[in-house]
Amino acid sequence: MSLISKLPQVGTTIFTIMSRMAQEENAINLAQGFPGFGSDPILLELVAKFTRDGNNQYAPMSGVSELKLALATKTQRTQGYFPDPESEVTIVSGATEALFSALSAVVRPGDEVLVLEPSYDSYVPGILLNGGIPVFVALNPTDFSVDWELVASKITDKTRAIVVNSPHNPSGQVWSKEDVAQLASLVSKSGIFVISDEVYEHILFDGKVHHSLGSHPELRERTFVCGSFGKTFHVTGWKIGYCIAPVPLSQEFRKIHQYVTFSTVTPIQFALAEYLDDPKHYLNLPSFYQKKRDLFVEGLKSTPFNFQASQGSFFQLVSYAHLSKKSDVYVAEQMTRKLKVACIPVSVFYSTKQDHQVLRFCFAKKEEELEEALRRIQKIATIF
Ligand code: PMP
Ligand code: GLN
Repeated sequence: MSLISKLPQVGTTIFTIMSRMAQEENAINLAQGFPGFGSDPILLELVAKFTRDGNNQYAPMSGVSELKLALATKTQRTQGYFPDPESEVTIVSGATEALFSALSAVVRPGDEVLVLEPSYDSYVPGILLNGGIPVFVALNPTDFSVDWELVASKITDKTRAIVVNSPHNPSGQVWSKEDVAQLASLVSKSGIFVISDEVYEHILFDGKVHHSLGSHPELRERTFVCGSFGKTFHVTGWKIGYCIAPVPLSQEFRKIHQYVTFSTVTPIQFALAEYLDDPKHYLNLPSFYQKKRDLFVEGLKSTPFNFQASQGSFFQLVSYAHLSKKSDVYVAEQMTRKLKVACIPVSVFYSTKQDHQVLRFCFAKKEEELEEALRRIQKIATIF
């Protein structure tokens, strides 16, 4: 039997490849983006409690009411608007599912979907499986800002949607209010949908503020806001996230969600609902992560890398373009095998695998692990 692949270009993700290599080489894994420390014992105890209390059967399809309400309340507090918990908030099995279901809700065969790149790896397969055509728009390769004229120039009568992501993986760039206004003006002219990946909404540095697209009245009407509790509460393995969208969009979204997973893990939903009652559980995150980012950036100053400090997310990019023209895939592999620190080559985030000699490090790790990684990275010159 042979099967004609629907995704002929897709192989194993770079995150899996580099995590596997890190394990084989006993290297510090600053490659795949996941926290290297535990979650809050209060949250873990809540999950245990709700499990023991017998909340172990299917949750309602769109999520348990307590969590939808808690999320709507958090959205009011942090973004100044209150989505209707029952009709505009859906709890799903990770932001990956939210992104996939949102794309499936809007993309029809032949539709064009704008993707700003470098971009996270799950957007394009979601577009292709729905018969869509990804249209790539490059971010500025040095500061990863959006060239809004370039974006506007790519809109045709076939454009159906745009996928955006701030704070941005891999660059750590955070959109300004001006970026949001530019997108709003573009969307109101063209009538396209927006899929907004906001998984790093609470991981921000140097006083940066996250402007959810849902907080903009014009954008709210056409946007699927996709988020991840895994990222926010250091539990990426729980695979639980959400989608906030206006009623007509949420209705279509739910038609898909109910046949992708139907519903999402019940005791964890109850636990998160109670945990969200205390706003400091998410409001303290910027200062928690700032210490890690600062430590990592301080250490990088005594390496030969060039970089601009990350503004948000788990990630810091570094450039070695002034030191070597060796490919980023080669350098990332050598770093893992010889220096015993794994990272991600940024070319994999480009459709054409453009290589700017840039690497991505995840600094969501314990301080001592970051310090040891930095000591090893000092020897970078030995692999060029
Ligand atoms: N979007 C981005 C930008 C990410 O970095 C991740 C993390 N893997 C996801 C989406 C997926 O989030 P989740 O683990 O909740 O599916
Ligand atoms: N989002 C994580 C990253 O960018 C990886 C998640 C995954 O392995 N799919 O590293």
